[in-house]
Amino acid sequence: LNRRLAEFGTTIFAEMSALAASTGSINLGQGFPDTDGPAEVREAAVRALREGRGNQYPPGLGIPELRTAIAEHQLRRYGLEFDPDREVLATAGATEAIAASLLALLEPGDEVIALEPYYDSYAACIAMAGGRRVPVTLRPDRATASYRLDLDELRAAVTDRTRLILLNTPHNPTGTVLTRAELAAIAELACERDLLVVTDEVYEHLVYDGAEHLPLATFPGMRDRTVTIGSAGKTFSFTGWKVGWVTGTAELVTAVRSAKQFLTYVASGPFQYAVAEALRLPDAYFTAFRDDLRDKRDLLSAGLADAGFTVFRPTGTYFVTADIRPLGESDGLSFCRALPERAGVVAIPNAVFYDHREAGAPYVRFAFCKRIEVLADAAERLRKAFA
Ligand code: PMP
Ligand code: GLN
Repeated sequence: LNRRLAEFGTTIFAEMSALAASTGSINLGQGFPDTDGPAEVREAAVRALREGRGNQYPPGLGIPELRTAIAEHQLRRYGLEFDPDREVLATAGATEAIAASLLALLEPGDEVIALEPYYDSYAACIAMAGGRRVPVTLRPDRATASYRLDLDELRAAVTDRTRLILLNTPHNPTGTVLTRAELAAIAELACERDLLVVTDEVYEHLVYDGAEHLPLATFPGMRDRTVTIGSAGKTFSFTGWKVGWVTGTAELVTAVRSAKQFLTYVASGPFQYAVAEALRLPDAYFTAFRDDLRDKRDLLSAGLADAGFTVFRPTGTYFVTADIRPLGESDGLSFCRALPERAGVVAIPNAVFYDHREAGAPYVRFAFCKRIEVLADAAERLRKAFA
C-alpha cells in the first residue's frame, strides 16, 4: 500500500459492521436504513431491468431521464437552474462524486479545508489526489447541545495554497445544519479568496425543528464556484444502488467527469431509471421521510439520555452524537470496541473523523435510520448496561 493511503487502514464502517455481525449486536454504526425506500421506486428498477433499460453501459453523464429529474429537483426545491446536458452528472454514489471532484480539481500540494469531524472518505480522497487537508474543528456547545463553526477559525485557515473548501451540510456525524449566516460567510470568503467549494449535501432532505437546508450554490457568487453533491442512497433509502450526482457549471461538471470516466466510467444503469422516477415523487414523500426520522431521532436521543449519555441534538442527518464522559468513559474508540460485549449495540467513535483525535475522543455516533422497535430495543439495552 502506498504512503498516501497507508494511514487510513480499513474504514471504520466496515470494521464496525463486521463487529455487529460477529457479535449479533444491533448495528447503529454504519449509516444505512433497515427499511428499503418506496416500493414504487423499487418496482421502477425491476421494470427497467426487465425491459432492458440500463442493462448495458448508460451514457457517461448518466441517462437523460435522470439528469433531467435532478435538474428539476434542484429547480423545484431551491430555484437553482442547471442544464441537464452540461451541468449535471450521475455518479456511483456520492462517494464517487467526492473522489472525482477532488481528483479533478486539486493539484498536488493544494490545501483543502474540511470541517472536522469529517466523513471518512474526505481525508482519503484528498490524500489520493495529492492534496493536503486542513481541518477546521466544529466545536461542541453544551448550552445549545449543538456544534458550531467558528468563522474566524475558518478564515484563518485559508492560505495562498488553499484551493477549495470541502463542505458538508447537513453534517455527518454531528447533525449540524449550517445556518444562513454561516453559509453567507463561507460564500463571502470563497469569493474573496477565489476558492472552489465542493459541498456534500447528501442529507439535504433530513432537517428538523424548522431548520432549513440552504444549498451553498444559492448564495451570491457561488453558483460559478460550487460543486454540489447529492445521493439517492440517502434521499430514497437505497444505499446499495449507488446512485449519486453532481451539479455545477459546465466547466466544473466537465472537470469532474474527466476523473469520473476513469474511475467507474458509469454505474447502476437500471437504478438510474428508478431514481429518475423517485426524484419526481410528490413533496409528501420528502415530508413523511423527514418526519419519520425526526420521531426516530427523538426516540433514540431520549433513550441515550436515559442511559446517561450527554446527547447533542441533531437538526439534520440520521446521526446523533453523544458524549460518553457522564458514563465515566473518555475514549470513544475503546468504548465502541467494547460496546457490543457490554450492551449488544454498535456505534461509531467520532475520533476517527478527526485529525485532532483528542478533540473527538469522548464522542460516539449512533445512527437512527432504523425501525422504531430496533431503536427501542437498543435504547433498552443501553439503559440496562449503563443506567
Ligand atoms: N457523504 C456523506 C456525508 C455521507 O454520510 C455518505 C454516506 N454515508 C456519503 C457521502 C456517501 O454516499 P453514497 O452512499 O451515495 O456514496
Ligand atoms: N455514510 C455512511 C455513514 O456515515 C456509511 C457509508 C459507508 O459505509 N462508507 O455511516
